[in-house]
Amino acid sequence: MNILPKPFRIDVAEGSFAFRSDAKVATDIPVIASLFGGADAASPVRFVKGDTEWDYVLRITPKGVTALAATDEGLFHAAVTLLQLAGEAGETDLPACTVYDKPRYAYRAGMIDVCRHFFDVDTVKKLIDSMALFKFNHLHFHLSDDQGFRLRIDALPKLHQVGSERKGTCGDGKPTGGYYTKAQIKEIVDYAAERYIEIVPEIDLPGHTRAIVAAYPELSCSGKPTEVASWFGIHSKILCTGKEKVYEALDVIFREMSEMFPCKLFHLGGDEVAKLEWAKCPDCAAVYKREGLKNLEELQGYFTNKAINILKKYGKTPVLWNEALKSDVLDESAVVQYWTTDRASAERVAKAVCEEGRRVVMSRCNPYYLDYPCGTHSLKAMYMLEPAEELGKSAEAGILGVECPLWTEHISETEELFRHFYPRALAVAEAGWSAPGKDYADFEERLKGVLFLLDRRDVPYIPVAECNPGKIKSALQTAAFGLKMQRGCDPSSARNWRSMSLKQPKF
Ligand SMILES: [Zn+2]
Repeated sequence: MNILPKPFRIDVAEGSFAFRSDAKVATDIPVIASLFGGADAASPVRFVKGDTEWDYVLRITPKGVTALAATDEGLFHAAVTLLQLAGEAGETDLPACTVYDKPRYAYRAGMIDVCRHFFDVDTVKKLIDSMALFKFNHLHFHLSDDQGFRLRIDALPKLHQVGSERKGTCGDGKPTGGYYTKAQIKEIVDYAAERYIEIVPEIDLPGHTRAIVAAYPELSCSGKPTEVASWFGIHSKILCTGKEKVYEALDVIFREMSEMFPCKLFHLGGDEVAKLEWAKCPDCAAVYKREGLKNLEELQGYFTNKAINILKKYGKTPVLWNEALKSDVLDESAVVQYWTTDRASAERVAKAVCEEGRRVVMSRCNPYYLDYPCGTHSLKAMYMLEPAEELGKSAEAGILGVECPLWTEHISETEELFRHFYPRALAVAEAGWSAPGKDYADFEERLKGVLFLLDRRDVPYIPVAECNPGKIKSALQTAAFGLKMQRGCDPSSARNWRSMSLKQPKF
């Protein structure tokens, strides 16, 4: 049966039920009715709330279909399973069976970067709508980076007036920009909630903040004016750790964002922090000396924990990219998102899980980053990654879930955005939901059987036949991607990159 992600258990019985996906179903949940032909209490296809230990139970008998779940979300999951079973024709004899299903992980996410390129509300909603069909339940929304700040914060209006616009992209000389109003964010959050998806907002701190610093230069170490970055890579103009007004600004941003985003999780970034300016700054030096710090990682740790303490006032749980663990002082409440591929980081994350009880989201760059071409991160490689293996058996209990991030340095068109996301993200949807155990041929078969759901919604995707290129094509795609990345980087990027591992300040 073509169900993706693969359900926990299917018990097959005798007989079948003739089902049309455009027939009405008995439900009082509008989004479920909208997946079929509408609602009718007399329909033999019924969605019923009731006690069960499963996320949902879907029972098909010759007389009808009954979906049972303790929550509306469980019933929605049953509905998308039924929709997949109905198949492309939308009309089929469903084999009598009972599907018992539950997710492996509580957190199943995709991420989009709307900073490097901005995508409008309709595109974000289309992504959410399609993700929900595969039981994703979070969308990580990367809203602030060197190349753009994408929110309206009323008390800091320059963030959108200045921080959301840049003069061009990689030398093309074409001004570009965009931001979401509060009404638009509400529209996105509500639309996602109807589909049981929560939006995890991210303000990347303290690195990747050149757009913030362009809007308010006084928040940087030098205080000198700068522009929103129009090249990619690592930038050194970032927030100062020693100026109180930086933390006051964060308080304003977190307060307004907490009103916009009801999700308990709130991403604070923490990756790729160039430390050049800190090492020369008298305000950073004052903190360093006052706090008795031993290196610049500890200075980042000081900054991050101060930001976390502000965030806690608004009842949020911080999430940070795994570099934030390097300080050894990261607040114990923080969830860590593992993305780097080096052994030392994996060991550090595993240690944090085992010894500190920290929870972790698995999104190893290789192969989960969707901006890479299939030749670098193939569908098969994404499917075959077993999230629990990376950190070792003893860390397995700390895994909150999985996420596939889509960075958009070199993705500016909506069609490209979706083609990078699908169908590879569905390998991650399965890793997040289904019990361990891999069978790629079976996965690919089921995948082909559910892609009609994307066709119906005009969601572009890469044909499955192109998702696992051979050696030569892969090498060519990898080389072309590497060149594109390199050519898109700011000239100062290599120097700034090296400064990320700068240990001792000059003061
Ligand atoms: Zn400073």
